[in-house]
Amino acid sequence: MLKQSEQELLDRVESGLGIGGEWRVSTSGMTLDVQDPSSGEVIKSIADATVEDAMSALDAAVAAQEAWANTPTRERSDILRRAFNLLMQRKEDFALLMSMEMGKPIAEARSEVDYGGEFLRWFSEEAVRVRGDYRPNPQGTGMMVVSHLPVGPTYFITPWNFPLAMATRKIAPALAAGCTVVIKPAELTPLTTIFFVQLLAEAGVPAGVVNVVPTSKPGDQSSALLSDPRLRKLSFTGSTAVGVKLMAIAAQNVLRTSMELGGNAPFIVFEDADLERAIEGVMLAKFRNIGQACTAANRVIVHESVADEFVRRVSERVATMSIGRGAEEGNDIGALVNTKAVENIARLVEDAVEKGATIATGGEAIAGPGNFYKPTVIDRLNPRAAMMHEEIFGPVLGVIRFSTEDEAVQIANNTKYGLVSYVFTENIHRGHRMIAKLETGMMGLNTGAISNAAAPFGGLKQSGIGREGGFEGIHEFLATKYTLLPR
Ligand code: NAD
Repeated sequence: MLKQSEQELLDRVESGLGIGGEWRVSTSGMTLDVQDPSSGEVIKSIADATVEDAMSALDAAVAAQEAWANTPTRERSDILRRAFNLLMQRKEDFALLMSMEMGKPIAEARSEVDYGGEFLRWFSEEAVRVRGDYRPNPQGTGMMVVSHLPVGPTYFITPWNFPLAMATRKIAPALAAGCTVVIKPAELTPLTTIFFVQLLAEAGVPAGVVNVVPTSKPGDQSSALLSDPRLRKLSFTGSTAVGVKLMAIAAQNVLRTSMELGGNAPFIVFEDADLERAIEGVMLAKFRNIGQACTAANRVIVHESVADEFVRRVSERVATMSIGRGAEEGNDIGALVNTKAVENIARLVEDAVEKGATIATGGEAIAGPGNFYKPTVIDRLNPRAAMMHEEIFGPVLGVIRFSTEDEAVQIANNTKYGLVSYVFTENIHRGHRMIAKLETGMMGLNTGAISNAAAPFGGLKQSGIGREGGFEGIHEFLATKYTLLPR
């Protein structure tokens, strides 16, 4: 049963599709149910967009594009800054809404509001700092002017695991660059994005500049939008499997894409690591968001000389974690997003044990209602265990032991993914070697948390293409134009 304050918050969230500054019902009249994963209770039903609705959203984005691109950058910057201020004022509302629809602990939801908000602040600052340049051509016959123009209407597809931050990380740079947006949030967690689009309107984002169309048929919607030549950019965050499909469709129109895909992060603890620091780091890198993060430590690679102590001390910490509904204060581990997630984790743990691993703590699902799995530590993973190659996406920490630096690097790089790595060593030279050797787009050296709006977030290999945040983020939404001015 929802509390009265929770119901009141849900009542403030629009249930329609946000198209051209209006909230509309679906042209099919169909709705989509959103559940609280800690109870299975339906907390709100919202409009389920058809392909026709999505095309109306693109019409609105296309109609708004020119005026938005011509809006002075200072004005766009001020709007983003107002959105940041409003979000900070409504931090508790956004945190609670996210916890309710997605299950994450409320304290982490508050951190996500801070993190997600930082993209609004950062890109409000970047909006007015896009530079071009002016260079003489080597022949001495003219000047070359290089400028950066908005790419045009964009389509965003976001995942359920960070419902706010994955939206702001795309919307803020797009608006800063002068692009209009159609966004499709994950069908499991659409409420936070809808509520955020409401906030953007209050902050002064004009009608049609940001449109939101949740749907239960993401494939149909995406194929239709990606095939429309008026669309100029796709930015996707989600699994590699879906990303690959979308890239194939986008290729038909040679559409610009940014891809933030899956991960399989190695977390290496060398024999010279500060063990206390490594344990703090792994608690964050593994259990944040109930393990449901692309940046989650997926393979904990520990030197054999410190592995016994590491596993013992981590297991003691993990065994005392409190489990319960994320929206209630004080829980460390909330519900996983759905029953499929619990089944997948159980399968991976069973497979690891069959292949010789031992369970140090946890290792089982918790009976419903709700989708809970005990926080777990597994030791002595076999390199062939499925969880060495697949995303666990849950509160399961698996340790594999190594004996030499080369072996650690080989294990770490033995994956098709390359998003982030974590390295714990007190040896600065070894740290530098790891920066060069580990095939990941990001690295935490003696830290388990790397996300920052000022940093270029993104992966190598099958973890993606492009960067979000940092100075790089706005350029995902800008096209470079060179003009020759002959003498
Ligand atoms: P998912 O790929 O199943 O879904 C992501 C989004 O794609 C959702 O909005 C979904 O509705 C949509 N989608 C699903 N099938 C589609 C299709 N055929 N066509 C178009 N859209 C489709 O992933 P998920 O389970 O929501 O999220 C978890 C995944 O996201 C993990 O692999 C995780 O690593 C990754 N992720 C990556 C980052 C990053 O920045 N690299 C961040 C968060 C999550």
